[in-house]
Amino acid sequence: MAKKSTKAFERKSAALAALIEALGNRKVVTEGREKYMASFDSSKLSFDYDALILARTEKDVGTVLKLANEYKVPVTTRGRGTSLTGSASPIKGGWVLDMMKMNRIVIKKEKSMAIVGPGAVVKDIQDAAEEEGLFYPPDPSSLKYCTIGGNVACNAGGLRGAKYGVTRDYVVALEGFLPNGEKVSWGGEYKKYATGYNIRDLWIGSEGTLGVVTKVVVKLIPKPAAKWTIVVAFESEDKALQGVQEIARLGLNPAILEYLDCNSIYCAEEIGGVKLFKEVSGKPLLLIEFDGTKARLKEDRLRTLEWAKESGIAFKEAKNEKTAEVLWNVRRACSGAMFALGNAKINEDIVVPLENQAKFARFIGRLQKKWELPMPTFGHAADGNFHVNIMFHREDEEEKRRAKGAVAELMEKVVALKGIISGEHGIGLAKTPFMTIARNPAEMEVMKAIKKALDPKGILNPGKIFDVFEVWDKTPEKVGLPWDKKLLPKQ
Ligand SMILES: Cc1cc2nc3c(=O)[nH]c(=O)nc-3n(C[C@H](O)[C@H](O)[C@H](O)COP(=O)(O)OP(=O)(O)OC[C@H]3O[C@@H](n4cnc5c(N)ncnc54)[C@H](O)[C@@H]3O)c2cc1C
Repeated sequence: MAKKSTKAFERKSAALAALIEALGNRKVVTEGREKYMASFDSSKLSFDYDALILARTEKDVGTVLKLANEYKVPVTTRGRGTSLTGSASPIKGGWVLDMMKMNRIVIKKEKSMAIVGPGAVVKDIQDAAEEEGLFYPPDPSSLKYCTIGGNVACNAGGLRGAKYGVTRDYVVALEGFLPNGEKVSWGGEYKKYATGYNIRDLWIGSEGTLGVVTKVVVKLIPKPAAKWTIVVAFESEDKALQGVQEIARLGLNPAILEYLDCNSIYCAEEIGGVKLFKEVSGKPLLLIEFDGTKARLKEDRLRTLEWAKESGIAFKEAKNEKTAEVLWNVRRACSGAMFALGNAKINEDIVVPLENQAKFARFIGRLQKKWELPMPTFGHAADGNFHVNIMFHREDEEEKRRAKGAVAELMEKVVALKGIISGEHGIGLAKTPFMTIARNPAEMEVMKAIKKALDPKGILNPGKIFDVFEVWDKTPEKVGLPWDKKLLPKQ
């Protein structure tokens, strides 16, 4: 045993020495705060590892992976570390490959494409596109921080998914490295291809387990001319979610269709201090935004107002962008305000099909009563993608036990309702216990076979998706992250 561990230590040391020799001291960090901050992502589950690598070029990435392969060192690729599931936490140690410095953005207006480095921040891509009159729609709430590499790896979604879809819908091509350090490109600066397997789409959403992305080509579309926003209050959660079905049946196509249940509204109004409808305070809401030409918006507005009068108990339209901002403040305020209900939050991102959404809302009501925990729920209703926020006090073992029970029951129910356990955050570590209820044995075997074929030595992001990890057994770091700030917007 002692012989084995001495050998492992020697191999680790030799690998690190080879890495430093290849990349130099400035790109390899082996101690200090910067290294510590990359030992976890937004899940704050921290693991010890050997070296943080600050990649600057494609060549760096190839070199790292070749060495990792030679010495069998685990590599966890990292964007900004906003993942909520532990997918960027280096659970098996080894090396963390930070891509933030590879952040070049080139807009090709004539092709309606952007060629971007994996470390480019999503908001910067959006701003660069808008400067050219173009539009990059995917808008995760973390967009001021997260990178396109992370978005590709998790197939990130956002509010505008209702009309515009998710990251996958905008990825034209990916370039990067296989776990063995060989360079590959899946697609190019062209709009279509039918030339062998579509590995580009396999990489999207694979959480950095199949390859390292070093270049992304994304599609841009014309920027919509105008927007119109309305908020509609309903008598009950049931009614609000029936409203989502009615909107679909009417053929209305909002850019954003967000749902907030009574608990979320309570958080925004009573704790966040963001009041909207004094007359119908505490009622569930749908926040709806249309975009497009002025003529199109006129028609959408008339039809939506007709529907809102019929189905809702009150509504309020935004007269201009400034008043629309006040409406969006409700959505933004609730998440931070939830921490008044507990000091820890399990933010699930489950998906249920349209026809089962009202059933799902009733189930959440029962779940809260059974486990005696608040579970404010809001989300991207048009996609059926709901954030169920199970609030508890981490130091209270009894509350922790109940939160764990509630998560398990939630996941079972979502699958029973023909939904899926994650719509945008991915599996990472947090959802590994539920993979086998979401995927049958044949599906699991296919996924494992793909992983084995592309990464036979298990170098890239090991321990994620397939190995069961109980997040409850590990205490998250007590450290503040820039996006943790509970800034409640002023009205
Ligand atoms: C406040 C907050 C709000 C959020 N809102 C949303 C939301 O609205 N929608 C949504 O979808 N998500 C949301 N998230 C989750 C998170 O922002 C996304 O998952 C995002 O895509 C992660 O990007 P990142 O750059 O931080 O990646 P990281 O967290 O660093 O990494 C995430 C995964 O991507 C892999 N990865 C990163 N870069 C590469 C690369 N170049 N090549 C291969 N693999 C790579 C990592 O290995 C890891 O598996 C939110 C998170 C927070 C904290």
